[in-house]
Amino acid sequence: MTSTLIEGIGLLVTNDPEIGPLTAELNNAAVVVEDGLISWVGESSAAPDADSRIDAEGRCVIPGFVDSHSHLVFAGDRSDEFEAHMTGQKYAAGGIRRTVGLTRAASDADLAANTAHLVAEMRAQGTTTVEIKSGYGLSTIDESRSLAIAGQFTDETTYLGAHVVPEEFSDDPAGYVELVTGEMLDACAPRARWIDVFCDDGAFDIDQARTILEAGQARGLGARMHAGQLGPSEGVKLAVELGAASVDHCTFLGDDDVDALASGSTVATVLPGVEFSTRQPYPDARRLIDAGATLAIASDCNPGSCFTSSMPFCIALAVREMHLSPAEAVWAATAGGAKALWRDDVGVVAVGKKADLVILDAPSYVHLAYRPGVPLIHRVI
Ligand SMILES: [Zn+2]
Repeated sequence: MTSTLIEGIGLLVTNDPEIGPLTAELNNAAVVVEDGLISWVGESSAAPDADSRIDAEGRCVIPGFVDSHSHLVFAGDRSDEFEAHMTGQKYAAGGIRRTVGLTRAASDADLAANTAHLVAEMRAQGTTTVEIKSGYGLSTIDESRSLAIAGQFTDETTYLGAHVVPEEFSDDPAGYVELVTGEMLDACAPRARWIDVFCDDGAFDIDQARTILEAGQARGLGARMHAGQLGPSEGVKLAVELGAASVDHCTFLGDDDVDALASGSTVATVLPGVEFSTRQPYPDARRLIDAGATLAIASDCNPGSCFTSSMPFCIALAVREMHLSPAEAVWAATAGGAKALWRDDVGVVAVGKKADLVILDAPSYVHLAYRPGVPLIHRVI
């Protein structure tokens, strides 16, 4: 066993409810790490001895970001669509199906290399836990190999065969749902922890979403859902009813959706990078928090609607555009993400938890929103 003392922490975000509410901060703190786990947290002056030391020199330390929503297994990019959208040009809607074509044509090695590149990009920006979805294969073989590749980088793998209906099933969406809940599920369930469905206009309707999520749950997968991105949807209430871990986007919410999220256990995950990149209105995250819902912030890193891998950027957006306090935003991007993945070993700095820590190049996490676009990650542990 080797131990490391991280001392000289000017401000420590613990998110530990035993210490206090929300970010539960400590000043002049220290943390001892032993074999990847936290073994001591407290005042720097009272810290025990350790085999090695890291001096944070007064910097702020936070738990590593938990990015609970990403689509990293794909080939190609769609910068031309983004450019056309931003400059008001019309463009032929290729969308997700375009990435599906490129992904199917790519080798496993190329897909894994692209995923590795994006995971490294995330880590350099402080993300220590990431969920990765399939969803650009949309055939049994391509969904299954996408999940095998995702599994090389995370345990939080999500089967998203129900991203959109692929071209070859355009005339037979019911046949595609049968495939997603049949042969494709058989191939993918052993490689996934979660099942997800995109329940919105142009994707899957509420009945299809129920069929798909229930089929996954019957195979032991946890449920999560894309809902309320493009318009009001019954999806949010369905996610709560089915006991989904999280319902993601929540851009369009009715009163009954807010009530359902406030009274159920399903986390509301907002993805502000999507609204930034698509010029949609931002979700009313303030209202969700005030109603008592549990909020997470994630990147939704994907080649179409939002190609950022940066949780600090999403935090800055959440503070600027959704009126969260910096403390609420940092909590949602760490502890909130952990709750959205049913994890209690990450997103919190407490004895026995994973030692996923980020030393910021700043005296306070407020700088994540105060200094947008600035690389503030000093060190990831
Ligand atoms: Zn997504």
